[in-house]
Amino acid sequence: MAEEGYTVKDRVGWTDPASHADQPDRADLVVVGAGTIGGWASVFARADGAERVIVLDRGHVGMGASSRAAGIVRAQGGTPATVALGRWSIDFYSGQRAAYGTDSGFRELGYLILAVTEDDELAGRERVAMQRANGLDVAWLDAATAAATAVTLSPDGHRGGSYVATDGAIDPPRNVRAYFLAMQAGGVELREGTTFAALRTAPTRGATRVVAVETDRGTIETDRVLLTGGPSLRAVGRAAGLRIPAGAARHTVAVLEPNPAFDVPRMPMVFDIGAGLYWRLEEGGLLFGWSDPDERLGEARSIDWAAYDRARARLAAFVPITRELELRRIWAATIDYTPDHLPIIGPALTPDGARIEGVTVASAGGHGMMWGPGVARVAADLIASGRTSLTDVSDLGLDRFDARGRSRLASDPIALPFPVNAE
Ligand SMILES: Cc1cc2nc3c(=O)[nH]c(=O)nc-3n(C[C@H](O)[C@H](O)[C@H](O)COP(=O)(O)OP(=O)(O)OC[C@H]3O[C@@H](n4cnc5c(N)ncnc54)[C@H](O)[C@@H]3O)c2cc1C
Repeated sequence: MAEEGYTVKDRVGWTDPASHADQPDRADLVVVGAGTIGGWASVFARADGAERVIVLDRGHVGMGASSRAAGIVRAQGGTPATVALGRWSIDFYSGQRAAYGTDSGFRELGYLILAVTEDDELAGRERVAMQRANGLDVAWLDAATAAATAVTLSPDGHRGGSYVATDGAIDPPRNVRAYFLAMQAGGVELREGTTFAALRTAPTRGATRVVAVETDRGTIETDRVLLTGGPSLRAVGRAAGLRIPAGAARHTVAVLEPNPAFDVPRMPMVFDIGAGLYWRLEEGGLLFGWSDPDERLGEARSIDWAAYDRARARLAAFVPITRELELRRIWAATIDYTPDHLPIIGPALTPDGARIEGVTVASAGGHGMMWGPGVARVAADLIASGRTSLTDVSDLGLDRFDARGRSRLASDPIALPFPVNAE
């Protein structure tokens, strides 16, 4: 991993904005958003040698999607780039304790992605061939083997699926705690309650270059900026004078009560990809989450109980024991997505296609637990040198979208049923 050799600088960077009153407010890098992308990217950039890294959050660290996620982490991506981001992120989580003395609670559970129709199976087997060609140890399990592996899964109603034993889950609040502590130990300056308002730019040798960031608490001079924002990235982009086709929609997660049927040494996570429904064990009960393909866009404000009933009926068909189980907790939160379900990582481009030098945009497109560390690593690499060796991200920039936010790339086939536009 690129963090090998990372040494925590002897420097306390935990600051109150007022403590900078006696010096010009200047940073080597300003990161907008203290979610998992901005948080880990700030840690990587600081370790790469950026002397003063300031992270802004309009609220507090992790208060966006990053603390509310279900924690599913998979290297089973639908494209070579997302396989690479997932593999890198799993390696990162696995090595985190040794590198930082903290962890995000990653545990290996295995992940089965079900095929229900013949078409699903055809697409699934093609996907497995692509993943294997990209170094992933993935197998196709027939229905009986899938049911024997996932223990409480019915052998009926599906055609088996793809399986990776090393996929798993993190604990999202613990991940927030982990990057928060790594930021603190590394000397990153976190400014909570500080809203990014605009970029200030200046013409330099024929290009437009960022020179400062405007916030509601003053101006920070800088020649490098990372824009993140998760479900708010579109608005962050608008404030920066960019058009970023990133969307936000409701996503719901529920946990059912514990049951002895789940008291097994290992029960892999399962994804019913066609319905956008996944489940995994959580504290002896079953956690499941879903996105409704007909969801209205925008911020999640309430539980859709009719959609809950549909998700439970579908879950019961696959995991019959859940028919008997009471609901223990449920939450609806706002998830980020991109129209092609792929991450956005690349330079800032204005609506007329002009590049703003020094500004990088990063989003995991609704997959911030599984790809987040990888996306943050790539963002830090692009900031430092304009290049990354993690994977080829040349297609993943804003220039893949047309004026209406439509992508010229095929969508990642393994995703929740997110809307196909972000308008
Ligand atoms: C219910 C739910 C379940 C999920 N489950 C999974 C899962 O199982 N696996 C998976 O991989 N992904 C999952 N996700 C998606 C994942 O949580 C996100 O992709 C990821 O957290 C996004 O991280 P981020 O850092 O880009 O954004 P966020 O965590 O949202 O952070 C962005 C930050 O930017 C701040 N901000 C916004 N505007 C401004 C501004 N103008 N100025 C300053 N700060 C600003 C916000 O306050 C916020 O703290 C889930 C999401 C939800 C909602």
